[in-house]
Amino acid sequence: MATVNPYYANLPGSYLFAEIARRVKDYAASHPDNRLIRLGIGDVTQPLVPAVVSALEKAVREQADAATFMGYGPEQGYAFLRETVAASCYAGLGIGADDIFISDGAKCDIGNFQELFAEDARVAITDPVYPVYADSNVMAGRTGKLGDDGRFQGLVYLPCTAANGFVPDLPKERVDIIYLCYPNNPTGTVLTKAQLSEWVKYARENDSVIFFDAAYEAFITSDDVPHSIYEIEGARDVAVEFRSYSKSAGFTGLRCGFAVVPPGVTGVGPDGARVPLREMWNRRQTTKYNGCPYIVQRAAEAVHTPDGQKQCRAVIDIYLKNAARIREAFLGLGLTVAGGVDAPYVWVALPDGMGSWDFFDALLTRAEIVGTPGAGFGPSGEGYFRLTGFGSPARTEEAVERLGKFTM
Ligand SMILES: *Cc1c(COP(=O)(O)O)cnc(C)c1O
Repeated sequence: MATVNPYYANLPGSYLFAEIARRVKDYAASHPDNRLIRLGIGDVTQPLVPAVVSALEKAVREQADAATFMGYGPEQGYAFLRETVAASCYAGLGIGADDIFISDGAKCDIGNFQELFAEDARVAITDPVYPVYADSNVMAGRTGKLGDDGRFQGLVYLPCTAANGFVPDLPKERVDIIYLCYPNNPTGTVLTKAQLSEWVKYARENDSVIFFDAAYEAFITSDDVPHSIYEIEGARDVAVEFRSYSKSAGFTGLRCGFAVVPPGVTGVGPDGARVPLREMWNRRQTTKYNGCPYIVQRAAEAVHTPDGQKQCRAVIDIYLKNAARIREAFLGLGLTVAGGVDAPYVWVALPDGMGSWDFFDALLTRAEIVGTPGAGFGPSGEGYFRLTGFGSPARTEEAVERLGKFTM
């Protein structure tokens, strides 16, 4: 008998999206003529841009010729992409190609990175949150069960609500690891340079490590919002950063991202000596990962060319415009709204006492619009609702029209 990892039993079933699917299916079954608009999705809808497709085609053709065929590549990614990323995303920030680890996406990197730390590491997450941060630590045995309060025992929750402007307070106690995601999924909010500096200061004073998820960096339009945590002085000693081509260049199906692990970010080894996380991550990746496909890395490289940048920018602007329209529609209903400016997500505060599942049902049955109940992202998400700008402009416009006639 093989005993399984007992900590998986601490995870609740994937309730959120299964429950959404069930309610949508029930509604569709009794309304065969339904005109449902799905604004709950966290997936992109616009196709890959021409610069990326050309790079893919060229790289595929190279595989047909023995002279240019590529087999196993470096686990850390090809130098051409690591150097391009360092130069395009981190010029002047003291980040070099050796600090960049190319992968098949940010979700795996963020899910895997916690394994560099001891089982008793104290972990803080914002609430509401991208579920990967919590669940990967549950699987690793760093928590107890999900309590009646909707929180995993042993995790430190940092509530982000309208009361604090969706900006988390610093932890009251010392923590080892802090997950920050800005621009944020699901709230669509950002941290200014001054606000992010507080976190870097906390991490330096408390010898903590920040996992900075910058998957939505490309959506930033405001001036005082840092695109990278390394724009904050001292962050290179306390922060790792995760980025993805998924939302910025439509790679949700193609798969490419990277982790940035500067050599100064360390933890403490069993003998008390400081251990650079970059060495550990390199060891982890070379042992368990065999590299992102060559053709995909060539496609990612094309994102950083002038044409690629221009074309990806045009797509991001479509999503941002959608988000802005959704934002205006909810403001028009007299509701408090966050996000939708530097992020594709719009986070709506529901009237006092209205549950996020009640609003889900109301929007589904009375406007035939599907969103995501905030409660699915953590206990502090109750009373809120997430919509995304990732739909098509035409469908989004139709949704905005319906919202104009909607009554709360
Ligand atoms: C979409 C998303 C990612 C990106 O994941 P990939 O694996 O690169 O597709 C990372 N973090 C957050 C918060 C996201 O919403």
